[in-house]
Amino acid sequence: MKEVEKVLVLEASYEPELLLERMREILEEFPLDLAGKKVLVKPNLLGPWPGESGIITHPMTVKAMVEALKERGGLVQVGDNPGLRGYGCVGRVCRETGMEEAVGPYWTNMASSPRSVALGSRFVKEVSISSQVLDCEVLVSMPKFKTHVSTLITGAVKNSFGFLVGADKARMHAAAPRFRDFGELLVDIYQVRVPDLVVMDAVTAMEGNGPSCEDIRHLGRILASRNGVALDVVTASMMGMDPLLIPSIAVAAERGLGPASLEDIEVAGPFEVIPDFKRPSTVPRMSWTAPFHRLVFALLSHRALGVDRGRCTGCRTCEEGCPMGAIRVERYPRFDASKCINCYCCYELCPEHAVKLNRLLRLVQGRV
Ligand code: SF4
Ligand code: SF4
Repeated sequence: MKEVEKVLVLEASYEPELLLERMREILEEFPLDLAGKKVLVKPNLLGPWPGESGIITHPMTVKAMVEALKERGGLVQVGDNPGLRGYGCVGRVCRETGMEEAVGPYWTNMASSPRSVALGSRFVKEVSISSQVLDCEVLVSMPKFKTHVSTLITGAVKNSFGFLVGADKARMHAAAPRFRDFGELLVDIYQVRVPDLVVMDAVTAMEGNGPSCEDIRHLGRILASRNGVALDVVTASMMGMDPLLIPSIAVAAERGLGPASLEDIEVAGPFEVIPDFKRPSTVPRMSWTAPFHRLVFALLSHRALGVDRGRCTGCRTCEEGCPMGAIRVERYPRFDASKCINCYCCYELCPEHAVKLNRLLRLVQGRV
């Protein structure tokens, strides 16, 4: 008989006592052997944005999870490798997100001691993984409920991309530039260390062209599961997307890592497809329109990016984050379309939200 994975959907806010209660409930529902064990909590800390931005896993959710794990005897550490590159960026992100204040002594710098790991992947043979990921006995992944302009959702599987230290992430984009291939590579990395528990911050949700845009809405939920793929299927379904259109879900399901559809999941709690949810411009609404949508996208993608000069500060974060060397910042960034692979790292990392998608691409958002 086929195993049915369970996903718990709980009502929540960022109120500390309620969050702690929710985390206790989750650990009751999905018990872990924690006493005396090395536990790593891995939130999504894309960059130096505060919890209210909706871009990162809110520090209060992480704090509540740390407390709940400690109550059960876990030896807890918290860490992530942000998308930024450069000396000191991990510490900066910890401070500016508010994570330092929330979990202070439990924070670990994941960039300090990476180890080389062989990867069973078509795209790269070896990756640089934080030793904390490799050495922990229990891994709790804490993604954020967000859309993503290239991977469509930023869920549990995508959260494992943060196992890699900054510079290695750029190498992955260059190695697998096509969306489907990149989804497969994400699953390769997810399989390095499959989380024991996944708890998603969906109190605020990001719609539209995530993962770092300003389209935030209140959802008031925490999602949890032992199976990250099941949690991603529920996330995509709540966003109104066919889960199998998400490359990482399709590949993970093919590999037997989790279910491909809601039918194989027991969803406990207040689940609903979010009304009028804005999908990323890059997602076709239905599989039969996908070729048309891809054609529209391919025709426009060579001019996909622009800059809002009113917002740009010339900080060069986009230039440093581009895996293809396709950006040169003088006063403002200039994009070399012949080198660009449409990975959207520049769009994702710009601290001022100054990198913009082509207006036509935005017009087709969720409507094709
Ligand atoms: S577009 Fe954004 S990341 Fe690039 S230089 Fe301007 S402000 Fe910095
Ligand atoms: S210009 Fe932007 S989208 Fe193009 S390769 Fe560089 S980071 Fe990726």
